[in-house]
Amino acid sequence: MRIVVLAGGIGGARFLRGLKQAVPDADITVIGNTADDIHLFGLKVCPDLDTVMYTLGGGINEEQGWGRTDETFHLKEELAAYGVGPEWFGLGDRDFATHIVRTQMLSAGYPLSAVTEALCDRWKPGVRLLPMSDDRVETHVAVTLPDSGSAAGSGERKAIHFQEYWVRLRASVPAEAVVPVGAEQAKPAPGVLEAIAEADVVLFPPSNPVVSIGTILAVPGIREAIADAGVPVVGLSPIVGDAPVRGMADKVLAAVGVESTAAAVAEHYGSGLLDGWLVDTVDAGSVERVEAAGIRCRAVPLMMTDVDAAAQMAREALALAEEVRG
Ligand code: GDP
Ligand code: CA
Repeated sequence: MRIVVLAGGIGGARFLRGLKQAVPDADITVIGNTADDIHLFGLKVCPDLDTVMYTLGGGINEEQGWGRTDETFHLKEELAAYGVGPEWFGLGDRDFATHIVRTQMLSAGYPLSAVTEALCDRWKPGVRLLPMSDDRVETHVAVTLPDSGSAAGSGERKAIHFQEYWVRLRASVPAEAVVPVGAEQAKPAPGVLEAIAEADVVLFPPSNPVVSIGTILAVPGIREAIADAGVPVVGLSPIVGDAPVRGMADKVLAAVGVESTAAAVAEHYGSGLLDGWLVDTVDAGSVERVEAAGIRCRAVPLMMTDVDAAAQMAREALALAEEVRG
């Protein structure tokens, strides 16, 4: 079975680990979000690709869900001693090596897809990990920063990098707009459209619908390829009990006018894209609303408390795919 999964960071990676356990013989292609990418200290950092690679390759910091296990922060401390930041983005010594290798290869002229393949030679994630695009796409968030010392409402409106919004500000001010800068001009990375065309099923893990899956779908050609593939497309809700399981997805959903409910996220993707949608058992009451939108819906446990739980979610998603295939 050929499975294509669109993935962000933590939610995508943990689901993929379950999927691999559930169907060890499946041929899995992951289309990873690269709109979170950021240049720091002259290095190209791809947080979502790395989270998938480290999680599936056994190098992830489990508790944190991102970054390396057994990590130290000497380099960051030394940079800080020179007054060189940003200090709000946590890059450990082991992690730095990945970004150095990536940046070196990019500087030598390799596209990100080739670089990702080279990094995966070491990590052997057991899936084919493709960046959504080799072109630069960067999510920016429009915010009004509170202007200390002056009257409320006189703050400065500006667009900041997604990581600055998410990591430095912890989404503490409303996101007024979320823009995947560069997406319109970006091309799907080599292999992306081919993998979708050859897939037996396409899955949307419980990744962020706006800044993970939304940005992948914003690359021209990807959404159309999925809609036209003629295979079941099944998603799992990242919203459980009207709140994100982790993180601040509600803030970016609000920016695109979508309420933080499992049903609203399904409607946001729409029946033109989604054939099936899984909501958590606590959201069983929303099954009818999703089905009224033309999307087959089931309520099953959706908390990835461990790999077995994630594997069970993967089995449910594949079962729903078979059901909609008819
Ligand atoms: P990020 O790039 O690291 O933010 O990760 P993703 O975009 O892949 O996933 C983030 C989303 O995963 C968040 O909106 C969470 O609500 C969701 N999430 C995390 N853990 C779980 C879980 O155990 N169950 C479900 N249903 N969603 C989860
Ligand atoms: Ca991310």
